[in-house]
Amino acid sequence: MSEDTTVLLEEKRVFKPNYKIVEEAHIKNWEAELEKGKNIEKYWAEKAKELEWFQKWDKVLDGSNKPFYKWFTNGKINMTYNAVDRWIHTSKRNQVAILYVNERGDEEKLTYYELYRQVNKMANALKSLGIKKGDVVALYMPMCPEAVITMLACAKIGAPHTVIYSGLSVGALVERVNDAKAKIIVTADGTYRRGKVIELKKIVDEAVLRCPTVQTTVILEHTGIPIELSDISGKEVLFDSIIEGEDDKCEPEIMDAEDPLFILYTSGTTGKPKGVVHTTGGYMVGTSTTTKMVFDIHDDDIFWCTADIGWITGHSYIVYGPLLVGTTTVVYEGAPDYPDPGVWWRIIEEHGITKFYTAPTAIRHLMRFGDKYPRLYDLSSLKILGSVGEPINPEAWIWYYKNIGRERCPIMDTWWQTETGMHLVSPLPVTPLKPGSVTKPLPGIEAEVVDKDGKPVPPGKGGHLVIKTPWPAMLRTLYKDEKRYIETYWENIPGGVYTTGDMAHMDEDGYIWIQGRSDDVLNIAGHRVGTAEVESAFVSHPAVAEAAVIGKSDPIKGEVIKAFLILKEGYNLNTALIGDLKKHVRHELGPVAVIGEMVQVDKLPKTRSGKIMRRILRAKEEGLELGDTSTLEE
Ligand code: ATP
Ligand code: MG
Repeated sequence: MSEDTTVLLEEKRVFKPNYKIVEEAHIKNWEAELEKGKNIEKYWAEKAKELEWFQKWDKVLDGSNKPFYKWFTNGKINMTYNAVDRWIHTSKRNQVAILYVNERGDEEKLTYYELYRQVNKMANALKSLGIKKGDVVALYMPMCPEAVITMLACAKIGAPHTVIYSGLSVGALVERVNDAKAKIIVTADGTYRRGKVIELKKIVDEAVLRCPTVQTTVILEHTGIPIELSDISGKEVLFDSIIEGEDDKCEPEIMDAEDPLFILYTSGTTGKPKGVVHTTGGYMVGTSTTTKMVFDIHDDDIFWCTADIGWITGHSYIVYGPLLVGTTTVVYEGAPDYPDPGVWWRIIEEHGITKFYTAPTAIRHLMRFGDKYPRLYDLSSLKILGSVGEPINPEAWIWYYKNIGRERCPIMDTWWQTETGMHLVSPLPVTPLKPGSVTKPLPGIEAEVVDKDGKPVPPGKGGHLVIKTPWPAMLRTLYKDEKRYIETYWENIPGGVYTTGDMAHMDEDGYIWIQGRSDDVLNIAGHRVGTAEVESAFVSHPAVAEAAVIGKSDPIKGEVIKAFLILKEGYNLNTALIGDLKKHVRHELGPVAVIGEMVQVDKLPKTRSGKIMRRILRAKEEGLELGDTSTLEE
């Protein structure tokens, strides 16, 4: 049987950028930039020159020990020096670096100079606690300025951080802290979530009993709930007390380009989370370049990425990318719909956000409330929108484009992974857009759609999305698991290419369309079908808010589609609607998409970052073990 996937859904609409976007853009000619990017080493060396190196590299790319690639060998650099220190001698000194906003309406602003001083104090405090270059620091913190300060302090002294999303449970925390052998955990009394305070310190208290490497716990008093300090499980100290009295100057550690910057676990959508190791130089080049290029950053921008620092999107596009290019980055603590589903649009108006970057799960959720909330606010400050995390259904794309971007703002649908560190496939603001397509590999990136033997599949056929050449912010290995690193990414498909684990197809214009995960592919009457198109077909029906599909065994067809549907308010999955949905999906996708069963649900199993976990639906369907659920939302 063929290993290709069948392409079912075709989206023909094209959106050209408006003239103002083109006029302002750093990169006005997309095609020319793509052409420039074909000389990969030269291209990335040019970009690397925009950073300040203590010592220039010998070689841009070293592939002598594949797949353990090295970038900018022997280059010496420091992340925090570039993200913070270098701006204080420029006009950015008094510009806001971090704009903190939370669901209660509190706000706080830190200029680059204030951030510089805070980071230095924390860096010195970590040193006073015995942290040296190479020691791992774990963060289990709310979205707040101190979390960013701690990450930057670690990077300043060369201590790799491992940030653990503050919504994960005790078990997940213990596992990650022990895996990384962290010496310190930095946490807070609690974090605000939907009008409540989640008591983080309590979770850490329980966790550290099972974390033998942890010598000190640092607690930030963030919400002001009462906490008790104890010494049962090592030393406990308050964040404010350790930075008090510390010097506000700290020399940056001279880091090798290939020294580790952080360890971060993947989202766990398809299985047990993988501990991804990122190093310093290449990651800096990749994240700074893509932030500037994809979001076309200018001096007056206020950039808001709604992710959490516990995920790669937060690392690369809340903290490091935006600060490396010297913009104002928003740190938001709260949900998208609390106290009401207009909260994000209100923040955009109040603070004049210019670039806004979020996830399809949030858009689909907010769409359910219609255009009532966005219409209440003046969103005219917005210039560019972004999407990341899952395929964005064309229906959601159009809603976002019309109601949030007011048909002025291009949407950057950025495809990338924890492992890639940076955007790899994405439009630029001047790119003609097709709703649902991530367009083309960025300049300096070579991606292709191939069959399982590594041969390119023709346009209109689906296959595996692979990356053909190394890129600066690529993962260097999986933490303490080189074997899994090689097997997962480099041995699945011949030709020395990086296997992404995603299925995709390319259209006649060379545009890439993500079809879903290779693990989730359905197998219907000899056709391999990705989940994204089928789910998008459901979501394009007016009754459906969200959909997840899995294959269900069928004696004749091999598999048929079982769809789990969240319906919009006022709809019920009755016989009439079932008939209508079948007709609608058949009309959208053709006869291949045979629907076996539809069920109405209130919720879908998702990761804490909002990705649909189809493996949980499959396991339940087949009565199997659920597998790793450490990142599953409650
Ligand atoms: P795990 O690897 O543990 O299963 P995960 O793959 O969800 O979890 P992440 O690194 O957070 O972990 O997510 C990367 C994946 O998210 C990509 O492989 C892809 O499937 C999906 N993705 C990210 N951005 C996009 C996008 N713009 N369009 C389509 N899919 C996307
Ligand atoms: Mg993955």
